[in-house]
Parts: sequence; C-alpha cells; structure tokens
Amino acid sequence: MGRDYKKIPIVDTAHRCGLVLNPRTLTRGEVEASCPFCGDHGAGKYHLFLNTSTDQYRCVLCGAQGNSVTLYARVMGLSNREAFQELEEGGNVYPMPKQPDSQYTEAAPRKLSERSEVYSTMLDLLTLSDRHKENLIGRGLSEERIEQNQYRSMPETEKGRRLLADLLRSCGCDLSGIPGFRTRYGEWTLAGPSGFLIPVRNKEGLIQGLKIRLDDEADPERKYRWLSSRDMPNGTRSYSWIHVTGDTASRRAYLTEGPLKGDVASFLDNDALFVCIGGVNALHGLKETVLNLGVTELVEAMDMDQTTNPHVRNAILAIRKEVGHLPNSKYSKYVWSPAYKGVDDYYHARAAA
Ligand SMILES: [Zn+2]
Repeated sequence: MGRDYKKIPIVDTAHRCGLVLNPRTLTRGEVEASCPFCGDHGAGKYHLFLNTSTDQYRCVLCGAQGNSVTLYARVMGLSNREAFQELEEGGNVYPMPKQPDSQYTEAAPRKLSERSEVYSTMLDLLTLSDRHKENLIGRGLSEERIEQNQYRSMPETEKGRRLLADLLRSCGCDLSGIPGFRTRYGEWTLAGPSGFLIPVRNKEGLIQGLKIRLDDEADPERKYRWLSSRDMPNGTRSYSWIHVTGDTASRRAYLTEGPLKGDVASFLDNDALFVCIGGVNALHGLKETVLNLGVTELVEAMDMDQTTNPHVRNAILAIRKEVGHLPNSKYSKYVWSPAYKGVDDYYHARAAA
C-alpha cells in the first residue's frame, strides 16, 4: 500500500454530507458551515470552519475537528476506512442540504430498567458476524456462552443503523436518554464506531450499558469504548458502569478491568464471580456493587503489567483504598505467571494446556 497523498476537498465532502454552507463564504479560503455535531446551539448559524487549503474542519463551538475522511465518517456513521473508500470512489450523490438539529442537550441516561429494556430489544434485533464470533472463540469462549452473553455486531452502515432505530421505535421504545442513540437531521439513529457490542450487566442481569470492541483501532489502550452519543443532537452520555458476571451466589468475587475479560475468565473458571470495572479510573459504584453481592472474599485479578504500567499500578492502589478494607470481607491478590498479561489470558493458556 502506497502512502501517496490524495486530496479530498473538504467543501466537496461537506456537500456530500448534506451540510448547510454559508453562501457568502463560498469563495473564501475558509468556508463556513452549520455544525452537524452540535447544531450550533441554534439554527441558522455557522460555527464549523472548512479550511480549503488544508482540507480540515473545525467547529469553534463544540471543538469537533478533523479532515475530509473523518468528517464524512462521523456524519455518515462509517469507519474511517469505509469513508475513505466512498469518498475515493466518488459518484455524484449529493443529498439536499438540511439544517442540523439545534436541540442540543446533555441528557442524563434514563434509569436502569428502561435502558435495559431498550438495549435488550436492540440485541434481539442484531446479529453477530462470523468475524466477531471467531474473535470471541479465539479468546476461549464457547459458542453456547457467546450466545448466552449476547455479544452483537454494530450495524455497519448508516442505513442499517437508521433501520434499527426505526424498528426499536416501532416496538414502542423511546430512544431519548439511551446512550448511543441520537438524531441526525431529525431522524433517530445509532452512533458509534464499528465493532462488536459487549453487554455490561448488574448482578440481576439487567443491561447497564454497552461497550464496543472496536474493529479499527491499533492502540490497545483505546480498543474498547462505551456506546455513547454524548455531544450529539438528542444524544446521551454513558457512564462507566460496573459489570457483574458469573455465579452471583458465590461468596468470593474476583476484581478485574474490562467486561469481556471478566466474561472470559468467569467462563474458563467454572462461572467464578467477576466484578469488572470499566476502566482503571472508573471506580464509581464499585464499593456498592461489592457490598450488594454480599461476598466475604475479594480477590484482585488486575493485569500483570502493573509492575511496569504506572497507570494500572495507580488504579490498583485506588481500588484497594475503595474496597480493600471492607468489614466482613477478606482481600487478597491473585498471582499468576507474568507471562500472561490478563487473568483471561492465563486461564485460556491453562485450559489449552
Ligand atoms: Zn459544533
């Protein structure tokens, strides 16, 4: 693959996205457009600046910025690779420009029972691609457990995402206040990168939220993201919820980071109970979750790179401060061969041996 620079004009891309441009600025080096991400906090304004020499965009109100490919990807709900392909192929389909939604709110997520109902209905409507299923099998999960845990592939196209939103609405689901859903030019759709969805559940199995394991992300630290529609029209932010997986009657719980890691480790260790934090700096709700489970033994099973990764090390100290000295509960640290980074990797290798 060559790395030849190919110019994809930003104004042309904006037309393809159906953005409204300020006609008085069309001959300038910097063309103004209505921002599709924040709706300019009101109709008829132009906060998005399109730089025709660098082919970059930037919204001075919400801070959204990038190039032609990332603009097209974000507006159309595509991966950057898909966006590049579509832009490169050209064609002459230009939608009628439409004023973006101006109802810009930072809604809090709806309550758990309602989120869970919408997400459950959504998972029933989605499928898991073969590629994603293979990925999960490669981690040590069985087909049966994959089915049971309800991992699903994100709809790849914008058309598929709109269809999903339409189907949910026709099932009576209200999508406002549900992280991941948003409107685009007044129509409900699903936001987020492509990848597969991991349901994050409480101890009763209700779905708190969904994490996406991204397809196109080289940085391992950014491989997982919450399904969220923060800073988007009618969008809703996600919180970092705690995931509970395994036998909730167990008196011993293992603590780890990442819901998928917990699912895999629990499966490979006879349904051992795992409590999974959403990120190393996301401990909100951890203590409450542990207390509600009524466990008498907590075992720390964080990644073994803690000796070299100060980020993980600090998180572990914070976890110990939070749940390391609970009354009626013993706290210990699980140690395995440092050749395996995560407890899931270790169990997987042990199962294969
Ligand atoms: Zn904006």
